[in-house]
Amino acid sequence: MNDIERNLHSIKSSIPKEVTLVAVSKTKPVSDLMLAYKSGQRIFGENKIQELTEKWDIMPKDISWHMIGHVQTNKVKYMAEFVDLIHAVDSYKLLKEINKQAKKHNRIINCLLQIKIAKEESKFGLSEQDAITLLDNEEVKTLTNISIQGLMGMATFTNDKEQIQAEFNKISTFFNKLQPKYPQLKTLSIGMSGDYKTAIECGSTMVRIGSSIFGARNYS
Ligand SMILES: *Cc1c(COP(=O)(O)O)cnc(C)c1O
Repeated sequence: MNDIERNLHSIKSSIPKEVTLVAVSKTKPVSDLMLAYKSGQRIFGENKIQELTEKWDIMPKDISWHMIGHVQTNKVKYMAEFVDLIHAVDSYKLLKEINKQAKKHNRIINCLLQIKIAKEESKFGLSEQDAITLLDNEEVKTLTNISIQGLMGMATFTNDKEQIQAEFNKISTFFNKLQPKYPQLKTLSIGMSGDYKTAIECGSTMVRIGSSIFGARNYS
């Protein structure tokens, strides 16, 4: 068994069956992704459009590709043909463009709203109020080629487990509060290599794990 296969098995055995594992393969060569693929992994996450489209182009077609990074509006067209889930939607303008590009391919693209939970200024994302405003927007409701399926968040980059827990609990509470009114929200995408166990304790339904599967990255 190779390292990637071994890492995947150990992560899968440590997460509940109903939690979806996104293998974050950014910066890694296709040969590494193929090792994960051969051991059964079918969901991969990338954060750069060009890398995402290059890998999609040459890899097997039964892979579900997730865009997990910040998306520039003018880049949506490059992934609209195949992307399954866009994790970091944070504006009406972006939703509208995703809808427009999805329509050209006669597809429905699944989206998550990124909620800002970290203290750092650099992190993208909507406030809770902005997310509600977006969900209630009458024009958003008319966009038939997107489906808003949940929320995504990134905790502060810190070793302080209590802070991470507080941030995950905040988005999880918000998610639970929204669900009765917006039953289409099924996915809570929180948790990475360093904090996925905490995220699962806090109610994560989807974890995005990179370095614990593929090893450390030289650049991001
Ligand atoms: C890189 C990245 C991850 C995975 O990070 P690891 O710490 O390597 O597991 C998860 N989510 C997003 C948005 C990322 O950019």
